[in-house]
Amino acid sequence: MDAARVSARGALRWQGGHPWIFRSDLVTRPDGPAGVVAVHDVRNQALGWALWSPTSEISLRLLDRDPTARIDAAWFHERIRRALDRRTPLAGPTNAYRLIHGEGDGLPSLVCDRYDRWLVVQLLSAGLEQWRGAIVDSLQSLASPEGILARNDAAVREREGLPRTTELLAGDVPREIEVREEDVRYLAAPWTGQKTGAFLDQRENRLRVAHVARGRALDCFSYHGSFALHLARRADHVTAVDTSRDALERARANAALNAGSPIDFVEADAFEYLRSAERAGTRFDTIVVDPPAFAKNRGAIGNALRGYHEVNLRAMRLLSPGGLMFTASCSYHLTKPRFLEMLEGAASDSGRRIALRELSGQPLDHPEILSIPETGYLKGALLEAMD
Ligand code: SAH
Repeated sequence: MDAARVSARGALRWQGGHPWIFRSDLVTRPDGPAGVVAVHDVRNQALGWALWSPTSEISLRLLDRDPTARIDAAWFHERIRRALDRRTPLAGPTNAYRLIHGEGDGLPSLVCDRYDRWLVVQLLSAGLEQWRGAIVDSLQSLASPEGILARNDAAVREREGLPRTTELLAGDVPREIEVREEDVRYLAAPWTGQKTGAFLDQRENRLRVAHVARGRALDCFSYHGSFALHLARRADHVTAVDTSRDALERARANAALNAGSPIDFVEADAFEYLRSAERAGTRFDTIVVDPPAFAKNRGAIGNALRGYHEVNLRAMRLLSPGGLMFTASCSYHLTKPRFLEMLEGAASDSGRRIALRELSGQPLDHPEILSIPETGYLKGALLEAMD
């Protein structure tokens, strides 16, 4: 296949540490199908190797800057081995964590999560699909799982011209897998659950909140109760709110797997729940607010900000004096500064004196590369009501 040629702007992007070349920066399209291509600049200088996606807006994803590198099964094996090595410290406290975080691990468009003895992968670009066999072989030999499931039902696959499917790639994978997160056990649902079966990215924030929880606690947007289970270890009573009946059903099963204070599961809209609790004069000593991504694209940021402002403001008003609140946003389009600004606005409108006690982000298994903003999306803040 002929090399791809990229514009000066595209080449600059690579030099700046970002691995994507957009369609608009492609000067010569490779003539072959999706796969690996050599990449040159406009003066025909070799820039390295990339995954090529003929139908995507993201045409090229940098694999290796070395023009003499050989991109083969051994190359993928080595990158996967390095990603897995980076996770070694996690293997004690938990058996559910991300093994490969795409661009964050130098493996663009590849996600792999571990749930105990099983793996769930996502192959999110047309170029990467060509390496499916090699990737599965490497995961088999490096992690020896009992099964590998592909949750290739993510919407981004459509933009790559790929089908959306959930399929078994090796062995067998149960519908539910019981995993351990320090002192808590919960069931992940790899075939049908959100993301690859659980929100692994909040693990360290859940542990942090577990340490400071007390009194009466509220978990808004609870999903299958992940924060609630941790809160129940220290708080006296927990209320978990979510609109999804299926998620709450698993949350109840999860509560039964753990010791701890009682948890009430409430199927309700969190906004409405917070408003009616305020009317009733209810107060909480510990609150978690972990909404879904309100901003799915850049255009939705205005509405999303109003949603975040509203839900945070309501929650702040419910804090008892000295009460603590952990709040998060997983919208990539809501940047760190705007997340903070939103909290400042909500605090000032809440009529409460709210302190920022701690800022947090992604756990160690979701490396955020500073020159690749898309690898980072999760922001969290621990707040305290000062009076
Ligand atoms: N805190 C969870 C993840 C939350 S994901 C964890 O750590 O695992 C977001 C959740 O919000 C989903 O379970 C979804 O069902 C729920 N949700 C979405 N809109 C909602 C709303 N308006 N009110 C309550 N829950 C909502």
